[in-house]
Amino acid sequence: MSGIDTKAIHGGLKPSDHRSAVSVPIYQTSTFAFPTAEEGAARFAGKSAGPIYTRMGNPTVQALEQCVAELENGCGAVASATGMAAISTVLLALLRQGDHVVGTLPLYGATRRIIEKSLSRFGITSTFVAATDLKALERALRPETRLVFVETPANPTLDLVDLAGAVAIARAAAVPLVVDNTFAGPKLQRPIDLGADIVLHSMTKSLNGHSDVIAGVVVANHQSWMNVLRETAINFGTTIDPHQAWLVLRGIRTLGMRVERAQANAIELAQWLESHPQVAWVRYPGLPSHPQYELAKRQMSGPGSIIAFEILGGADAVRVFLNNVRLITLAVSLGGVESLIEHPASMTHVSISEEEQRAEGITPGLIRLAVGCEDLDEIRADLDQALAVASTVSPLELRA
Ligand code: PLP
Repeated sequence: MSGIDTKAIHGGLKPSDHRSAVSVPIYQTSTFAFPTAEEGAARFAGKSAGPIYTRMGNPTVQALEQCVAELENGCGAVASATGMAAISTVLLALLRQGDHVVGTLPLYGATRRIIEKSLSRFGITSTFVAATDLKALERALRPETRLVFVETPANPTLDLVDLAGAVAIARAAAVPLVVDNTFAGPKLQRPIDLGADIVLHSMTKSLNGHSDVIAGVVVANHQSWMNVLRETAINFGTTIDPHQAWLVLRGIRTLGMRVERAQANAIELAQWLESHPQVAWVRYPGLPSHPQYELAKRQMSGPGSIIAFEILGGADAVRVFLNNVRLITLAVSLGGVESLIEHPASMTHVSISEEEQRAEGITPGLIRLAVGCEDLDEIRADLDQALAVASTVSPLELRA
């Protein structure tokens, strides 16, 4: 198995392990019976591979972990209850008092908050640099730096981090590079192939793909990372439930088709938005106008399905536009089969001060569109009619 779509469809499945079942069964059990006291002791001692207790391992969860590890070309994976649980697992596993973390901006809001606020309570310091500035990343490293955390494409500006460049800097300092690969997903970007040490996902997004599960996963390039990550996940209890794991695995089976379809829609829509008279600017890695268009072509096999754009008419026009989409759902999240739209400055990134938002390129008018798999003409028509309504409402009328 080497093709990414084949891996998504077959990864983690061995029917002979599951009474010939072609879909991995849901082992909905909290604990597993030991045939003998000796076998129970052997499992606890790590001398027998049999299951013990679901927080410590479960066949449905293991199938999901194996599948994602194969997709990311990692040596193993540990699935978690949420994307934030995956991020917490990495930070708890790799850091100790006195350590320093370098992160690129923008980062998902909660990621930045736990690095900057929660970890500082344990004596861990941090420095953040712009995603696009590798020189600043290099300068930010200190002797006590123990982790570089990047997100590319970044949420919601779609700035890219040059992964090969970041790998070279982290390697020279012997510091692990952790990549949040949620936005691109393994179909479009595989950071471990470029030298990253640890990759994580909010599986809530494109891996599951149906906006019905919250989940996360961490994948590592080396067994020594896996051991400490798994131990941390088990002890802190960040692990996933088997039913949730099964839903994600079912979603992953169609990853290739969903990502291709949503991306094909997004390419057309980004071009259309860029030429629309009501649209001020569009940021999408598949448009030559993206400042890192060449980098996107180098490190991603496709530009993905998320578009950032701003419309003319200021804050009032944004509100009217968002209140008038009909097919597209006004909701946060992304990577599902349905198109979602949101306003980062007042929603996903509201916890960051206005000043910080500006510094990160999150302008007050920025709209994030996560394109889904609906018929292209219908998404376009929906955007068009909402833009038309937004263009007719003056700020005065709104306030009346
Ligand atoms: N990382 C990124 C890039 C995200 O967009 C999100 C959620 O939106 C997360 C992590 C957190 O994931 P979850 O909501 O599954 O905890």
